[in-house]
Amino acid sequence: VKKWRLKNLLQRRYGTFEVGREYFYREEPYSPIIWTSVITGRKPEEHGIRAWWLYGGILERIRWWPIIRHIKGKRRILWRLGLKAHVPNRGDLRCETIFDVVKPSVAVYVPGYNESTEFHERLFKVSGWNVDRYIREAWRIHEERKRATLRALEENRNWKLFMAYFDLADHVGHTYIKRNRLRVLRAYLELNSLAGRLQELVPPGTIFLIISDHGMRAVEDDVAGRHTTYAFWSLNLDTDWEPRDFTDFYPKILEWTR
Ligand SMILES: [Zn+2]
Repeated sequence: VKKWRLKNLLQRRYGTFEVGREYFYREEPYSPIIWTSVITGRKPEEHGIRAWWLYGGILERIRWWPIIRHIKGKRRILWRLGLKAHVPNRGDLRCETIFDVVKPSVAVYVPGYNESTEFHERLFKVSGWNVDRYIREAWRIHEERKRATLRALEENRNWKLFMAYFDLADHVGHTYIKRNRLRVLRAYLELNSLAGRLQELVPPGTIFLIISDHGMRAVEDDVAGRHTTYAFWSLNLDTDWEPRDFTDFYPKILEWTR
């Protein structure tokens, strides 16, 4: 973001912090765990969300047994058996979210609150295929997230908190960080221009906070990119405040929206 001088993503103040191991799954920072902490202000052991896919009832408990949890590809097996999973949302949480506390608030496909299971199913279905097909689907989903965000902004005028989530950089980053940096740049340029558009659309004086749960790096032993272990944030506000953990955002947002 800094090297490519993406001003709308950098905003006035920006920084990074190290992601704690409690947010990791298979040695990497993991989005559903992290975003649930952002929107609840609770550490992972408190909110209980550990993965993108949740199964109901007994199956959900069995899958974390040591023998079962290390089986790779079990989701595809369960899928064939007709056992459908969903991504974690409000109903799966044991605690309140920021959207239950700050009102009126708008959340557009926020993981841990109202993320679309359909998006993840669509990506899952094409994930074993060629990369072009996967990336086309990721861009299509990005356009849908964007349209939903713009529509929600237009339909709701008096919110105190508005949050949207975009995962394009993750999909494109995993696929192309090693093979084709230009395609990664293209995704970042799109996110930078989207940020600019949203910054113009929100009412004057709105505090604009951007959070990235991790970055992407190329590794030697794999064509796919791996998550970096630092998070990025930026703000359009002059302040001395700097987040050091994902749980720091919750109390700050409460303070801003008081
Ligand atoms: Zn990822």
